[in-house]
Order: sequence, then C-alpha cells, then structure tokens
Amino acid sequence: MIKRVGVIGAGQMGQGITQVLACADIAVTLVDLSQDQLDTALATTEASIAKLKERGKLAAEVNPLPNISVTTEMGQVADCELVIEAVTEDEMTKRRIFSSLNEICSSDAILASNTSSISIGRLAAIIDHPERMIGVHFMNPVPLMPLIEVIEAKATAQKTVAAVTELSERLGKTAVVVKDRPAFVLNRILLPTINEAIRVVEEGTATAEQVDQIMTLGAGFPMGPLALADMIGLDTCLSILDLMFVELKDPRYLPAPMLREMVIDQQLGRKSGVGFYRYDQ
Ligand code: NAD
Repeated sequence: MIKRVGVIGAGQMGQGITQVLACADIAVTLVDLSQDQLDTALATTEASIAKLKERGKLAAEVNPLPNISVTTEMGQVADCELVIEAVTEDEMTKRRIFSSLNEICSSDAILASNTSSISIGRLAAIIDHPERMIGVHFMNPVPLMPLIEVIEAKATAQKTVAAVTELSERLGKTAVVVKDRPAFVLNRILLPTINEAIRVVEEGTATAEQVDQIMTLGAGFPMGPLALADMIGLDTCLSILDLMFVELKDPRYLPAPMLREMVIDQQLGRKSGVGFYRYDQ
C-alpha cells in the first residue's frame, strides 16, 4: 500500500493532487522550481480545505497540512513509493524530469505522469524498469472531480495498474483504465469540442458568453466549453491539440488560430487572469 508520494509541479494540478493525497493521510513531498509557486500552492490548499469543510464536503477533524512538505530539490522524493509528475504539458520538460527521477528514485518506485496527452510509452522508454511507468490523469478541479483516467502503456505491469487503482479508491475516486493513445479518451473527445467552440467565436457567429450559454442551457453541459478552456489553461489546450494534430494526422484537430494568438498574448485563462473571460487574481 502506497504511503509516501512525490508530486513534481505545484501548478493547479500538482496542488490539487497534493491536497487529495494529504487528505487521505498520505505523506506528500511537493516539488517545484520556485519557492513562490510552492507558497502559493500551500496557501491555495489551506483555502480550499477551509472551503470544503465549510460546505460539509470534508470532515472538520481532517488536518492534511502536516502531511505536506514542499521543496525546490527534486532529490527529496528519493524515498517515495510513487512519484506523480504534473509539470507543464511539454514533452521535453517531462522527459528531463523522468530521466532525473530514474536516477533519484528506487528501481521499484512507481513513476506516473498526469499528462493530458503525451504518450506514456515514450516516457516509459526513458526509464529503467518501464513496467513501473503509468499515466494517472486527474481531473480539474482535483478535490471535486471523481475520475482518474489511468493509462497503461504496453510496458506497464498489471501490479503497477493495481497499485494505482487501489490508491484511487483510497482517494475516493474511480479509476478507469484505458490504452495509451494520443490524448487518451477524455481529451480526445473534449478538446475538439473546445476547439470548435473557439472557431465559432473566431468566425463571429456568437460571443464566448453565447456559446457557453447555448451549451449549458441547450446541451446540459455543467459548464460552457470556453469557461472550461479558461479553467484548463489555454496553453494546455493548445499543447494537447497540437499533439493530437501531429500524432493523429487529422485536420479536425488543427488548433483554431485564435487559440494560438491568445496563448502568444499570454491570455491563458484563469491562471493569467484573462482568457475568454476576466478573473480577479
Ligand atoms: P500549471 O501551468 O498550472 O503548472 C505547471 C507547474 O509546473 C508550474 O508550477 C511550473 O513551475 C512547474 N514546473 C515546470 N517545469 C518544472 C520542473 N522542471 N520542475 C518542477 N516544476 C516544474 O499546469 P497544470 O494545469 O497544473 O498542468 C500540469 C499537468 O497536468 C500538465 O501535464 C497538464 O496537461 C496536466 N493536466 C492539466 C489539467 C488542467 O485542467 N489544467 C487537467 C488534467 C491534467
């Protein structure tokens, strides 16, 4: 049973993953490049826990903060039984992380990526004992979403799948195990919808607000696709679509030019304060 977990990347996903692990009484070491980012992640965790308790979604006696330690030194995850990488959606960055983890961690530690789209098989090829590599695709916001899309590469051992599935249950989440294909299942279906919504705005058929209103009121979406794109991060949406276009060789995945322009202009959605909507920081 996994009791010590390392999380690499303290952005919105790494913070959320750390929070749910700590709430399940698992010791977590959270790593990022900057101390500022780690401080923000801790403050977000504290605020999120308070809100969950206020709403009765977390028992008052749960105190996860002592389970979390933060560091800018990746070597601190050396004694973890599982390390979850949740850094920026960029294959070269992730490759460098797994190459370092291969040196740092014990040879039987499970190495997992929270990637939205990148081949788990290609990441597995970097490490010794690739049977311990797996995709654990948490959903955003992590404390509220009940699914973990688990991705098994060809090399992934069944005991690795079993360990991650058991951990998912302890987190109160449902693991659905799928094969390793570009963007897996959720994003393979979701991102073309977001891309099409952006094209509708780009061509002037409707405003972002109208698109989201139509899809929530008319199609029963809990949240409009453009509000969701802002929440995911427009840079992450673009990376996923770029990868799908290149790897699936299908023009329907070609990112809308407006999406690329917004990313170039640093309009990344909630995390930068402006995307299709404006946000108070
Ligand atoms: P983010 O931009 O909020 O955070 C990324 C973090 O990674 C930043 O804090 C950055 O400082 C850190 N980082 C970058 N390089 C690093 C390195 N070498 N070492 C340590 N830390 C490093 O991104 P995010 O939205 O949290 O996404 C992270 C991963 O999760 C991506 O692979 C993304 O595709 C995936 N994901 C995102 C969502 C979503 O809705 N945003 C959902 C599921 C999965």
